[in-house]
Amino acid sequence: DDDVSSHKLSLLKRRRDVMTSANILFYESSKQELLVERAEGQWMFDEEGNRYLDLINNVAHVGHCNPKVTAAVTAQMQKQYTNSRYLNSAVIEYSEHLLKHFPQELNTVLFCNSGSEATDLALRLSSYYNGKSEYICLKGGYHGHVQSALDVSPYKWKGGAVKQPEHVHAVDAPDAFRGKHKGNYAGEEYAKDVAEVISRREGKISAYIAESILSCAGQILLPPGYLKAVYKYCRENGVLTIADEVQVGFGRVGSKMWAFELQDVVPDIVTLGKPIANGFPMAAVVTRREIAEAYWKSGSQYFNTFGGNAVAAAAGLAVLKEIEESNLRQNALEVGEVFLRGFEDLKQKNDIIADVRGFGLFLGIELINSEGLPAMEEAYFVRNRLLEDRVIISVDGPDENILKLKPPMCITKENAEMVLEKMNAVFNKLK
Ligand code: PMP
Repeated sequence: DDDVSSHKLSLLKRRRDVMTSANILFYESSKQELLVERAEGQWMFDEEGNRYLDLINNVAHVGHCNPKVTAAVTAQMQKQYTNSRYLNSAVIEYSEHLLKHFPQELNTVLFCNSGSEATDLALRLSSYYNGKSEYICLKGGYHGHVQSALDVSPYKWKGGAVKQPEHVHAVDAPDAFRGKHKGNYAGEEYAKDVAEVISRREGKISAYIAESILSCAGQILLPPGYLKAVYKYCRENGVLTIADEVQVGFGRVGSKMWAFELQDVVPDIVTLGKPIANGFPMAAVVTRREIAEAYWKSGSQYFNTFGGNAVAAAAGLAVLKEIEESNLRQNALEVGEVFLRGFEDLKQKNDIIADVRGFGLFLGIELINSEGLPAMEEAYFVRNRLLEDRVIISVDGPDENILKLKPPMCITKENAEMVLEKMNAVFNKLK
């Protein structure tokens, strides 16, 4: 055991010697480092071969080290992975397949390498298209680490390094559980905040950007009618709508391929990342042809060295086929149902659980203490205790009081039941 921990300590020291402390690790604050040596499906294995159930990794969408994705990547790497300015069939085949999953009007794909790049590209496309340069985003939202994305990411505006820029307007996240509007009309009420900014900044707003379920903002489900009302105000005023599906896309919500579909709307621009190629660096922007063409009309061509390379396209295609052929959306629905029902039971037994929510395999448990305040310490207690039980879960939200689950889509009902049992024991310790 000593050897194991001294090995880990030595790695941590070497890491600190060559990397910035801003590159924080999941369990750094609780001094419970996890060294991942190997991963497979919904499992990760440490240096001693101990197996951990991964409830966090939405990037390993079709399972860690999925053999079909690995085979597709390997085969393509052995064929060609040259400059994306030569004709390459893999990226065309991928685009055709991807677009089958979108409403007809969203008919054009632009490729890049990260969610942040996709956000940057979406914002620029919008400005090229309508010639405007101000944006509306949601408080608590996160859309990436490049400057333009940080500009629309209030989640990162704390700490002083990143400040709210003048060209960005942040409206309240439509939280119908703890926010200012509740009940049946919360969606329409929150949408009025967007209308207010559009009218105050008349003719200046280029786009409205939001995730289709709010992740960093605290696993918040958009109230019914919210995006419909927002998009209506936007369209009446020439404001484009951007849906960030980086965390929530690719069937995670189960009943739909994209979370924006839950709100019965069609965005002008959609950004995709994280799960798109199961961890192989890849991202994309999907939009209408006329918006994509604005790039060219702006006097510039779109060239991205790695964006749309044949290996990424092969990985992406393998992911789409795996979602379809292994019925992973159906699995997300069924396993998500087991989790939600179990969370409801836990809520009945534990006053600290104020709300449980989610769609498919995108789930949250909100903890509020007896004084009615966000229970951050307790959330970390649950997370850290679950690590001892070899279950990996995360804490999120502006108040760090939301337990968050977004596991690989191949997780099983038996896995969910095991987690619920362990959670029950951990919550009992909190009493
Ligand atoms: N949008 C959302 C909703 C995200 O969660 C993230 C990453 N956490 C990004 C964009 C940025 O993606 P990336 O880290 O790949 O640049």
